[in-house]
Amino acid sequence: MTAYPPAPSYYSAVNPAPPPRPPLGGDARADVAIIGAGFTGLSAALHLAERGMKVVVLEQARVAWGASGRNGGQAHIGQRRDQDWLEKAVGPSDARKLWDMCLDAKALLDDTIGRRGVDVRFEKGLIHADHKPAYVAETHSYVRKLRDDYGYPHVETLDRDQMRALVKTEAYHGGSIDHEAGHLDPLALAFGLARLAEAAGAVIHEGTRVLRLRHGARPALETERGAVTADAVLICTDGLMDGVEPAVERRVMPIANHIATTAPLGDRIFEIFGGRAAVADSRFVVYYFRPTPDGRLLFGGGETYSTTLPDDVAPLVRPHMLNVFPQLKDVAIEHAWGGVLGITPSRAPFVRRIAPNVLVAAGYSGQGVMLGPMFGKILAEAVAGALERFDLLARLPVPSFPGGTWLRKPILVAAMSYYALRDRL
Ligand SMILES: Cc1cc2nc3c(=O)[nH]c(=O)nc-3n(C[C@H](O)[C@H](O)[C@H](O)COP(=O)(O)OP(=O)(O)OC[C@H]3O[C@@H](n4cnc5c(N)ncnc54)[C@H](O)[C@@H]3O)c2cc1C
Repeated sequence: MTAYPPAPSYYSAVNPAPPPRPPLGGDARADVAIIGAGFTGLSAALHLAERGMKVVVLEQARVAWGASGRNGGQAHIGQRRDQDWLEKAVGPSDARKLWDMCLDAKALLDDTIGRRGVDVRFEKGLIHADHKPAYVAETHSYVRKLRDDYGYPHVETLDRDQMRALVKTEAYHGGSIDHEAGHLDPLALAFGLARLAEAAGAVIHEGTRVLRLRHGARPALETERGAVTADAVLICTDGLMDGVEPAVERRVMPIANHIATTAPLGDRIFEIFGGRAAVADSRFVVYYFRPTPDGRLLFGGGETYSTTLPDDVAPLVRPHMLNVFPQLKDVAIEHAWGGVLGITPSRAPFVRRIAPNVLVAAGYSGQGVMLGPMFGKILAEAVAGALERFDLLARLPVPSFPGGTWLRKPILVAAMSYYALRDRL
C-alpha cells in the first residue's frame, strides 16, 4: 500500500481512519463488481446491496483515498454546466429533468445524513462570487432564471455591498447565494457511505488495484491476486484510472487541484467571513473556500495538469489565498494537500454504457460532492433495469479529448493555461 500514501489533509486529521479492509485474496464471483471506493462506487454499492445483489468493490488504496476524501466539501445544487448550456445541449425538457435530478441529489444527501444517520454536519449557504465587475449582470440574470423559470426560490442576488458584508475582501464585485446548497466534511461523508454499504452486505477490498477489465458475457476485473467475475461491472474511478479502459480515459482526464487550511483563526474569522457560507468564484481555475467547524479558513485554488502531487503544497496555495485575503499574511497554514479529479472536454459528466454489462459514471469536472452519491444511485438503478435517469445522463455530449491518449495532455495544458491567464487579466 506504500504506493498510495494517505493524504495528510485536514480531513484525515479530524476523521480517524477505520481499520484497513483486507485485499482480494483469490478469485470471486459477484452480481456486480465495482472499481473505486469514492462517492460514486460506495453509493452504487449501497443501493445495489439494498436491492439484494452481491456486490464487491475493489479499491486500489483506501476508501475515499481519491477525490472524495480530499475535496473542498462544497455541495452545489445544479449540474456542472448551467441550465442555459443544458437547454442548448439537450433541449428544455431534458434540461428540466437534469435540474430535478439535482434537487433529488440534495434530497439524497439530506436522507443520508438524516434518516440514515451518517454523522456529517451540513452547513447551508454557498456563494458564487464574481471576480470581474462585468460578470455580475450575467450572474443576476441567471438567478432570475432559476427563480422564475425553474421555480427555485433559494437563490438570491448579491450586489457589491452585500457580497462584501459576507466575504470581507475587495476581490469580488457581486454574485449570488444559494441558501439550500452548502458545505460539509467529504471524508466523513465517504466513511459513512462505506459503513452503510457494508451494513447492507457489500464487500469492499482495499489495496486491490484492478489491472485489467476483461469484457465478455461475464466481465471480470483482474488483479494481482485474483479476479472478480460478475454479471455487471461499474467503473467509478473518476480521474484516477490509468490503463484499464481506453473508452473512459479518452474522455476523462486527470488534473490535480490543491487545498490548504490555516491554523484556527479565533475571532479573526470575522475579518474574512460575515457568515458561514462557502464561496466559489468565477475564475476559470476556481478559487473555493469556506470556514471549517473549528474556525479555520479552508482555501482551494491552483491546478496542475499532472497526477503527481508536489511534496509541499502550501506554497502553491498560499499566494492564491493572499490574493483574496491579504489580511491573512501572518497566519500559518497547518494542512495542505492535493487531489486528482476527472474532467471532460465539455465539463458534462461521462455517464455511459461502454459495453452491454459495463457502465461508467465519471468526469464530474469538479462538482461531485452532491452529484457523486446521486450518480452512484443512478448506476444502481440502471443495473436493476430502471434506465430513465441513466439514459438522460448518457445523452449529455462528451467528446473525446483531442490528441488521443498521448497528445491530450499537452493540448489540454495549452488550452487551460490560456484560460488561467485570462483569469488574471
Ligand atoms: C482538490 C479537489 C477539490 C474538489 N472540490 C470539490 C468541491 O468543493 N465540490 C465538489 O462538488 N467537487 C469537488 N471536487 C470533485 C469531487 O471530489 C469529485 O468529483 C468526486 O469526489 C468524485 O468521486 P468518485 O467516487 O467518482 O471518484 P474518487 O473519489 O476519485 O474515487 C475513485 C476511486 O477509484 C480508485 N481507483 C482508480 N483506479 C483504480 C483501479 N485501477 N483499481 C482499483 N481502484 C481504482 C481510486 O483509488 C479512488 O479511490 C474536488 C476534487 C479535488 C481533487
